Amino acid sequence: MSVSVSVLILGGTAEARALAAALDGHGVAVVSSLAGRVERPRLPVGDVRVGGFGGADGLADYLARESVDAVVDATHPFAATISANAVVGCASAGVPLLRLARPGWSAHPGAARWHWVDSHDEAALLAARLGERIWLTTGRQPLGAFTGPLAGAAVVVRVVDPPDVALPSQWRVILDRGPYELDAERELLVSNRIEVLVTKDSGGAYTQPKLDAADSLGVEVVVVRRPDWPGDAAGLVESVADAESWVLAQVG
Ligand code: NAP
Repeated sequence: MSVSVSVLILGGTAEARALAAALDGHGVAVVSSLAGRVERPRLPVGDVRVGGFGGADGLADYLARESVDAVVDATHPFAATISANAVVGCASAGVPLLRLARPGWSAHPGAARWHWVDSHDEAALLAARLGERIWLTTGRQPLGAFTGPLAGAAVVVRVVDPPDVALPSQWRVILDRGPYELDAERELLVSNRIEVLVTKDSGGAYTQPKLDAADSLGVEVVVVRRPDWPGDAAGLVESVADAESWVLAQVG
């Protein structure tokens, strides 16, 4: 039986898709929102809308217009703009907001030896100092921060969609979206003689094997710290199950 509540999930992550499926199983009407950045996105079950809202005000208008009862921001931990917009937009529309962000990798066995930095610019400068053969796994958007500092390096870039900035001619681009296996990650590191892996602290299991592989081979790892979430810490959960419970409590 369907529940007459309307939940907006700000998505684009595996956790957002899992939450949509779980809520759909409870008969909760869910609309998942995608930014529209990726050419062939993995789609969640239930209704989907695509494209920006037009900032926090646009989101607040959407919430009022569509009579949304609750919002779960399940976007990627590095999607800082939409997350900030959700905090402001939900407050102004008077709609409850939960932030679902999977745990980062600070508890990973190798983390104590990693180089933690606060920005992609810092990661680029440090990677250039640590080695000449670099594997960049920070995604397409921050690539512009690396092209200058790593202009002379042998760089492997792994991204879902082709980069939209000009890359130095010796850089190699691999188009792939995971999930990834440990053996294949080790092979990539070995065959490209990688000295430095650059990643952001995305967390999650999909992309963790590269970290295990790098640690096992003694490869330097540079990790970009997550941006802080600007909302109230009480509104932050790390698991899909906790987000599901929160939504069901709103419904009840
Ligand atoms: P962002 O910088 O935080 O957001 C930029 C703008 O894109 C937002 O202001 C908003 O436009 C629009 N937007 C972002 N996410 C949206 C969503 N789920 N639904 C509707 N509009 C959205 O975002 P981003 O880092 O580019 O990430 C975009 C999407 O890709 C997110 O949904 C995120 O979950 C997913 N993703 C991001 C990463 C990453 O590393 N950043 C990795 C994997 C997946 P308006 O202001 O016009 O509303």
